[in-house]
Amino acid sequence: MKVLVAVKRVVDYNVKVRVKADQSGVDIADVKFSMNPFDEIAIEEAVRLKEKGVATEVIAVSMGVAQCQETLRTALAMGADRAIHVQSDAELQPLAVAKLLKAICDKEQPQLVILGKQAIDDDCNQTGQMLAALAGWSQGTFASKVEISGSDISVIREVDGGLQTVALKLPAIVTTDLRLNEPRYATLPNIMKAKKKPLDAVTPEALGVDVTPRLKTLKVTEPPKRKGGIKVKTIGELVDKLKNEARVI
Ligand code: AMP
Repeated sequence: MKVLVAVKRVVDYNVKVRVKADQSGVDIADVKFSMNPFDEIAIEEAVRLKEKGVATEVIAVSMGVAQCQETLRTALAMGADRAIHVQSDAELQPLAVAKLLKAICDKEQPQLVILGKQAIDDDCNQTGQMLAALAGWSQGTFASKVEISGSDISVIREVDGGLQTVALKLPAIVTTDLRLNEPRYATLPNIMKAKKKPLDAVTPEALGVDVTPRLKTLKVTEPPKRKGGIKVKTIGELVDKLKNEARVI
């Protein structure tokens, strides 16, 4: 069984991004980029499936600028077998990424596609669901446990207020939540080996996908500065403030 994993290159989660003066976006010049944390979990899950003998091949896919190849090399060092880079300098929104993944699925015929539940830069939480719709495949989103037996896949999902278990048929789309696994670090020998693993590059045009953005960002603003808290002396005072000042009860 082939497993396809989508890995996005995003601003590292430790970087505190600054909004540009013209409010057109955030300033990403000279900041550190890494693999989206949920996608590290996705690669880890696929590699574990291979180690268990369930998956036969793990293919990492990334879409975007030339430096996405560094992200793909990390995926290869973590254990993916080969990589595909869809090269584009355009802004790739979730629908475009989902269409590109669909085109790659048509070519590669994986039985399982694993994505992160969301990219920490745009926080869209859309691509996996859109891909499931385009492909007409079942989806198990926000997965905290995945079990595969033959053509059946059981996914435990983290939902508000608890866990939901869904039974799906392969081929399927899974999106990862934080508790699915703890991704391994790429060791130096594996980083060296990854340099020799195959990495193919394609373009959206070659895949027949129009990636023109459908959404326009009107403005990006900093969150309001948090005001300092206060201490209340009695429960009565707390209730009064919640009712009459914050107006939340
Ligand atoms: P989003 O819907 O943008 O929050 O992204 C959800 C997931 O889709 C990510 O965790 C990735 O697995 C995948 N994804 C989104 N954009 C890209 C991209 N440019 N390249 C590869 N995977 C992506």
